[in-house]
Amino acid sequence: MTGRDILVVEDEEDIAEAVRARLASEGYRVRVVSDGPQAIEAVAKERPDLVVLDLMLPGMDGLEVCREIQRDEWIPVLMLTARTDEADKVAGFAVGADDYLTKPFSSRELAARVRAIIRRMERISGMAATEPITRFDLTVDAARRRVLRGDEEISLTPLEFEILLALARSPGVVLSRDHLMDRVWGYRDYAGGRVVDSHVARIRRKLKDEAAEPNYIRTVHGVGYAFKEDDGSSPHGGR
Ligand code: CA
Repeated sequence: MTGRDILVVEDEEDIAEAVRARLASEGYRVRVVSDGPQAIEAVAKERPDLVVLDLMLPGMDGLEVCREIQRDEWIPVLMLTARTDEADKVAGFAVGADDYLTKPFSSRELAARVRAIIRRMERISGMAATEPITRFDLTVDAARRRVLRGDEEISLTPLEFEILLALARSPGVVLSRDHLMDRVWGYRDYAGGRVVDSHVARIRRKLKDEAAEPNYIRTVHGVGYAFKEDDGSSPHGGR
């Protein structure tokens, strides 16, 4: 895969240079900036295909930058973080990061993550010809990357969208966390289960699907998740 534009936002010169060199050797066009305001400007002007974003930046931190660059249009973000605790990872996902890498990381690992994100993007754009899926009052439209609940548009991040799509495609089929991790993220991770759970929790919040008896996504304890089968009853309990 060549010809993709990647913006690297990193204030530590050694790391920035290592990341730049590796990605350039993989055939990507790479631009490096060292702080948040420059990153926001570069994204607005150049619309890169992917942003590699350090969490700890001077002045404006990575989470704020991530939120800001996602404001108008989704753009895939790989977050670099020196902190290892889960809370930060989950916080990163909540502002729209697609993946994270904890420092120190190898340049081989970095390249693999970038490839996985780009493959995922290509898969999403390859879905352009598929028909929307309708389950209960929910419409999952892969071609337009849209989710409607009734007439209301639900805004999901790309990862959330893919998880929902995977589940909605085969109602009643239980998908394990590992399977979802493999399929949606393109690799597995020691924290995989937790990460999948936090995404499903956010999808449910957005779909208002958090009741004891869920309308759409069922938890299968110890295994994973399944989309509810349409048995003809109303999705909202009672007609
Ligand atoms: Ca830094």
